[in-house]
Amino acid sequence: MQPGCSRRDGNPEVTQIRIGELKLTQSKEAMERARGLIPGGVNSPVRAFGSVGGGPPFIARASGSRIWDIDGNEYLDLVGSWGPMIAGHAHPDVVAAVKNAAEMGTSYGSPTPGESELASMVVSRVPGVEMLRLVNSGTEATMSALRLARAHTDRAKFIKFEGCYHGHGDAFLVQAGSGAATLGIPNSPGVPGAVVGDTLIAPFNDLEIVRQLFHENPGEIAAVIVEPVAGNMGCVPPRPGFLEGLRELTRTNGALLIMDEVMTGFRLARGGAGERFGVVGDLITMGKIIGGGLPVGAYGGSRELMNRMSPAGPVYQAGTLSGNPLAVAAGMATLELLAEKSVYRTLEGLGDLLETGIESTIRKHGYPVCVQRVGSMFCLYFREGPVRNYKDAAGADIKMFSRYFHAMLRRGIYLAPSQFEAGFLSLAHSEEDVQKVFEAGQGSLAEAFDGL
Ligand code: PLP
Repeated sequence: MQPGCSRRDGNPEVTQIRIGELKLTQSKEAMERARGLIPGGVNSPVRAFGSVGGGPPFIARASGSRIWDIDGNEYLDLVGSWGPMIAGHAHPDVVAAVKNAAEMGTSYGSPTPGESELASMVVSRVPGVEMLRLVNSGTEATMSALRLARAHTDRAKFIKFEGCYHGHGDAFLVQAGSGAATLGIPNSPGVPGAVVGDTLIAPFNDLEIVRQLFHENPGEIAAVIVEPVAGNMGCVPPRPGFLEGLRELTRTNGALLIMDEVMTGFRLARGGAGERFGVVGDLITMGKIIGGGLPVGAYGGSRELMNRMSPAGPVYQAGTLSGNPLAVAAGMATLELLAEKSVYRTLEGLGDLLETGIESTIRKHGYPVCVQRVGSMFCLYFREGPVRNYKDAAGADIKMFSRYFHAMLRRGIYLAPSQFEAGFLSLAHSEEDVQKVFEAGQGSLAEAFDGL
């Protein structure tokens, strides 16, 4: 265990994971009420369980590696709020930082020293970031980074990869992953054709198509945006040479490389995927962990590029709550807990344990399942591996995933409710937790396959 990192098992009164039917009476009522007030009952689509069926448990509280729903069910959480909770839920340092900040006022709309503190933590860790701008979400970060790339190059087109998700900005909603993949929405209504007309698509891990797109659109492509490890179609690592190839192709064609590290930033290494894979983007977008569970996003790059943003330069971008003192305090406290490189060894060890455990079950039973993992991000696909791109991911057996998902939930393991989402381990997970996940997985895989 690392200094400052706790591995708490949650509420001592309810530590046993229950196997059997879940009682979700109150959650069902809460969902009925929410459906009348909020579209689909949720404020972000995948939460509605549309892809796996059934209804979501409504959450009452969380601590360490556990969450509890309003019916009193306890779950070992592998969603971690979709990535931010790398230190575990309600870490005392993060809670204290937020409480202290709140007592000083929750928002000023004026600069604070904390913003430079957080910025300097990021600059000292993330390769390629000399300056950054704080925003309120990953979506804002990618939208702003694309605007900057277009302004800098005076070009409109950009390349994104099929199945990669960069938030819900109009230009990105073409063949996007995450909820858009789950719901099968390649283009959302309301996104004008003209807005996505400049969005060029390539399959993830396919450098040849990227090369071809540059060839067919000479001098017109502002940027390539990529999730260095694609986490919105499960967990798809870059092939060796893929990120390096993108670096080279963008450089030789006068385009910028935007590394979308909203999910991978501070998760795959202290300096994110840029450090882990040794490929430095021109612009790096961040979110999730940088806010420690509060709404924060950021984008950064060289001084020259970032000084093009208003008010230093002409490219406009703003935010009433950007740099919010509570969010900044939570972000700083979380990054503080990730200061030592050894925490990433801990996460790698936990990930390895989980992967090895699940793989041995699969090998023993010969199920058509493959586990893909990078550090503490992972995914189980119901198909033979490897999964290298969206087409492969979409070829997984979604119905089987739903059966497995519900079998795991009944065993008290909370997975992301979609085949197209990554699972996350945190520093609050213990080896015993991982063992529990693995054991529940054995039973759930058997149930998913054998019960057919
Ligand atoms: N980019 C990536 C890689 C993401 O995974 C996400 C969200 O999951 C986003 C951008 C959008 O971030 P947010 O949901 O904070 O707007």
